[in-house]
Amino acid sequence: MIEAILTIDDISSKNTHAIVDYLNEKGIKPLMFAWGEMVESYYDNAVYALKNGIIVGNHSYTHPKFSELTFEECVREIEKNEELLDRLYDDAGVERKYRPFRFPYGDKGGENKENLQKYLAEKGFTKLDDRRVNFPFWKQSGLDKDIDTLWTFDLCEYNIRKGSGFTADDVFKRINDPAPENGAGMNKAHAMLSDGGFHIILLHAHDLTEELVPGYYKLFVDHLLEKGVKFVPPEFL
Ligand SMILES: [Zn+2]
Repeated sequence: MIEAILTIDDISSKNTHAIVDYLNEKGIKPLMFAWGEMVESYYDNAVYALKNGIIVGNHSYTHPKFSELTFEECVREIEKNEELLDRLYDDAGVERKYRPFRFPYGDKGGENKENLQKYLAEKGFTKLDDRRVNFPFWKQSGLDKDIDTLWTFDLCEYNIRKGSGFTADDVFKRINDPAPENGAGMNKAHAMLSDGGFHIILLHAHDLTEELVPGYYKLFVDHLLEKGVKFVPPEFL
């Protein structure tokens, strides 16, 4: 058996609405991470996700590389998006019970890493329940201690861009690869389809991917379902 939590980054977008409808139809409860500027651009679609019971966490306001910022700049990025998300939950009429956070690019802030973890803990950010992640690297790298939500498998579908040469087939290959190349932000990747695995999968709500591969999220999630992956809802510690 292979189980996974589906995380979807960089909402909101034009296609967020259709992604929510598709996941509802499949009975999959994802965890979404909001990029503040994108939420401002497609606000109603982010409200729609909340109204459909999806938990939306903080993914910073402008999606910078945190290791290139001062600690104060990092905090401003997080707090500006927190204010926006509080308003979003209010407008959706949904109580905000959890405050997960994901660093853009999985960049945990370089020399500010420790201070940022302390900050996230002190401010009451919520840690995803990752106790079932059983890949040795997770504990070896101390990821089990971090408050922010990283991932164990990156579909890398954001590489599907004009002229990149990376196609939907490469994503399928990656899913079926017994030893996949590293994804962004990861030191070690682990086979998606390793039996007994528990994954935190990374996918994005990108209209640019939609333009090139319409319904890309269906293709990849349907494929994972066909391969026997069971999606479980996110829970928090
Ligand atoms: Zn992102």
